[in-house]
Amino acid sequence: MHFTQVFVTFLRYPERAIRLRMRSLAALLLTCCLLWPSPAYSWWENGHRTVARVAAANLTPAARVRLARILSVPDSPAAIADALAVASTWADETKNETHTGEWHYIDLTLQDSKSDISKRCEENNCVSARIRLFAAQLSGHKTEGRWSELDALRFLVHFVGDVHQPLHAISDADLGGNCERLDPPSGNAKSLHALWDGQIIEAMDANDHDLAESLGKYYSALDEARQKEFSSGEVDDWVWESHKLAQENIYGKLHIPVEPVLFPKNCGEAPPEITNFHAAVDTLYIDTMKPVVRDQLLKAGLRLARILNESL
Ligand SMILES: [Zn+2]
Repeated sequence: MHFTQVFVTFLRYPERAIRLRMRSLAALLLTCCLLWPSPAYSWWENGHRTVARVAAANLTPAARVRLARILSVPDSPAAIADALAVASTWADETKNETHTGEWHYIDLTLQDSKSDISKRCEENNCVSARIRLFAAQLSGHKTEGRWSELDALRFLVHFVGDVHQPLHAISDADLGGNCERLDPPSGNAKSLHALWDGQIIEAMDANDHDLAESLGKYYSALDEARQKEFSSGEVDDWVWESHKLAQENIYGKLHIPVEPVLFPKNCGEAPPEITNFHAAVDTLYIDTMKPVVRDQLLKAGLRLARILNESL
């Protein structure tokens, strides 16, 4: 693989970059450190921190006590919210050294149905299996293998966020929208995946405190049935919900060609219909998608709170 190709793939798709050959990876990491001081994360930092803050605002007193102990902070709502927000991006920051990049997503193809979820999650190497495993570890109050309770919490907070990013639950031989370029770029986003990871959130509100607060107000104004819907479901329901949202609002609305069932290791191996596709993303598209992102962030926070309240 040509070095430039490897480098571009890494920039576009940090989560799947773990699959790249180690020699190429070492070389490009060195270059990245020199040229790219702030890597793009899933939901970027703001999205994950917002999800953590929404969850922190919906905890039971018992869950708060245990979280304060695990996070080594005072048992006060503000201290827990801040610590959980910091903890929410750890899984992205450490995924190259922990070799856990595959845990952040699930490659469900456009041809798959909900019953294919387990087939696309070999050896529990996908986001939905990891949410279940780390929630179980926390409810058992134990260290499991190499992961401490704090690690389990940090993974859980992050992965519940990731599973609500629609492009973390879909694959069209395009590494979850990483191989479709934006032309021109949208802010810092040069790929469709980056647009959904962070750019739409940036366009909503660049501050996680304010965004979490406005999500809380929006939630309080909803009727009871809708409020219930926002925190409902099990992990596979959330995967499928994200998958359907991506099909409709991303692959459908932007008219991305449907590819055969293929799982390229990097964008250099993706079909030309994908790598030559230039998504036409304008302000109208971003504005139309803001409510989808708002609802996904809110659902992620409320559902995370539900898991923590049940597990801790
Ligand atoms: Zn992630």
